[in-house]
Amino acid sequence: MPEATVQHAPPTPPLVALSEDEILFRDNIRQFADENIRPLSREMDEKGVFDHGLIEQFFQLGLMGIEIPEQFGGGAGTFFEAILAVEELSRVDASAGVIVDVQNTLVNNALLRWTTEDQKKRYLPKMAAGTVGAYALSEASSGSDAFALTTKAELKGSEYVLNGQKLWITNAKEAGVFILFATVDPAAGYKGITGFIVDKEAPGFTVGKKEDKLGIRASSTCELILEDCKVPKENVIGEVGKGYKIAIETLNEGRIGIGAQMVGVARGAWEHALNYARERKQFGKPISEFQAVQFQLAQMGTEIEAARLMVYNAARMKDAGMNFVKEAAMAKLFSSQVAERVCSLAVEIYGGYGFTRDYPVEKYFRDCKIGKIYEGTSNMQLATIAKIVLSGK
Ligand SMILES: Cc1cc2nc3c(=O)[nH]c(=O)nc-3n(C[C@H](O)[C@H](O)[C@H](O)COP(=O)(O)OP(=O)(O)OC[C@H]3O[C@@H](n4cnc5c(N)ncnc54)[C@H](O)[C@@H]3O)c2cc1C
Repeated sequence: MPEATVQHAPPTPPLVALSEDEILFRDNIRQFADENIRPLSREMDEKGVFDHGLIEQFFQLGLMGIEIPEQFGGGAGTFFEAILAVEELSRVDASAGVIVDVQNTLVNNALLRWTTEDQKKRYLPKMAAGTVGAYALSEASSGSDAFALTTKAELKGSEYVLNGQKLWITNAKEAGVFILFATVDPAAGYKGITGFIVDKEAPGFTVGKKEDKLGIRASSTCELILEDCKVPKENVIGEVGKGYKIAIETLNEGRIGIGAQMVGVARGAWEHALNYARERKQFGKPISEFQAVQFQLAQMGTEIEAARLMVYNAARMKDAGMNFVKEAAMAKLFSSQVAERVCSLAVEIYGGYGFTRDYPVEKYFRDCKIGKIYEGTSNMQLATIAKIVLSGK
């Protein structure tokens, strides 16, 4: 009798398994971040300014146009690769992470998904080759309630005339292009919101005050002032009055990037804590020999692993064309909680030294806080998750 052969489907790879290309991509960024960003990180934080030469290097390395197709000069990579880049950069410097994150997961993503061929031709090559982008939704009185924005856009001939102010805009100091949301009809509520591509040189457009912040100090956060700012009609993104959809859907993707930033920050702090625990001696032995410290380090590592699995899963779901809204909100919510716990414990493991600016962990502790605030506060993530789970989806 011939032996029966059993056909096994190839095993599904684990979530953390990376392709050869992804490993190479990640390792190159890790090395670049360790060698080029780490030496500048402390000074950039103190001055509150990101090194311009590093941004140029981000462009040269293809980090500012990861998903942009080759025909427009980009890397033709995946969203997952953008997530890997944000994680690796944030492990060394959270400001570096958010600059690359906003460029890829918000600005380029919106341009790739919602623009016309003509707009793609005009903007994508720039974004891949030297123009930093910013994403301008928030205003002084509309944060969580983003669609209460009041910046007005009025059509006059072939141009829209924009008036109002934006607040908290990441990358604003360095940016040449802004994805900006304004309302064409305040009485229509969210149905008046429209997306625009605004060039830095647009008449009536000014970058205002830069915020002096607790963390991610080297990343610029500024107000934008629009005073009869003229934007050609051709720069409307998507349909007039449908900007709310662009804003929501872009932020859904962006949240996975913030999750990756928080995983990177947590990893950076944890690695410092591991090294320090091996070196620091008390009671005649390294503190890593005390079980209490070992357990703290083990707990930190476990939480980072869980957060990373959630971020990677959400990113892979996005690349697979699946609905990832719940998973993205969960990944951001949880990663920012993990980052806060891990960075706080890292300060404690350093003892008094951890509380000073002479050692790196206090910066991680300051940098992690933003993860619970931008691209939707933790409460807003919980609201999204609750709505989905209660609807039975
Ligand atoms: C460093 C930094 C960078 C930023 N970058 C950008 C950017 O590039 N582009 C951009 O458009 N915006 C950006 N933002 C803005 C950011 O997205 C908002 O700060 C955030 O959405 C929260 O809005 P808010 O600050 O107005 O807080 P509020 O909305 O006033 O919230 C205050 C508190 O109330 C809670 N709250 C509000 N409403 C509810 C509710 N319905 N249920 C339960 N709790 C609620 C919140 O969770 C929060 O704890 C940035 C902010 C910072 C600090």
